[in-house]
Amino acid sequence: MSDSARDELYQQVILEHNKKPRNFKQLTDSTHFAEGYNPLCGDHLKVFLHLKGDVIDDISFVGDGCAISKASASLMTTALKGKTVKEAETLFEQFHHLIKGELNPDKDPNILGKLAVFSGIWHYPARVKCASLSWHTLKGALENKKSISTE
Ligand code: ZN
Repeated sequence: MSDSARDELYQQVILEHNKKPRNFKQLTDSTHFAEGYNPLCGDHLKVFLHLKGDVIDDISFVGDGCAISKASASLMTTALKGKTVKEAETLFEQFHHLIKGELNPDKDPNILGKLAVFSGIWHYPARVKCASLSWHTLKGALENKKSISTE
């Protein structure tokens, strides 16, 4: 696949997840919860987790924001459902390297899967915080911090 064809495919995935976000609801029986803001863009998300022991049994989000922040949250929830907290931390680390342009999903070993659609985002520094907001909020929830700001 050419680079431009792949970029287009990636963009389609992001737009589709923005239009139809997965796990877009409040969890009534959440064990962990946090709220995240990205004042630069105005993105505002809430992430809910239901942990069973060490496993993310259920995860969801609600909120409002740009296409990147919503698609990122949506893809994050689908990637993390059923994973352990440790796997989630590994994914967060890899995702962070990815969106800063420090990890090439085609060459470097990774478990990112569909999250690789954000691989071009580092070309747009202002959007990096949009893409990482849901992940910072997730981390906050796991650390029992209720409110997270990207600044
Ligand atoms: Zn945004």
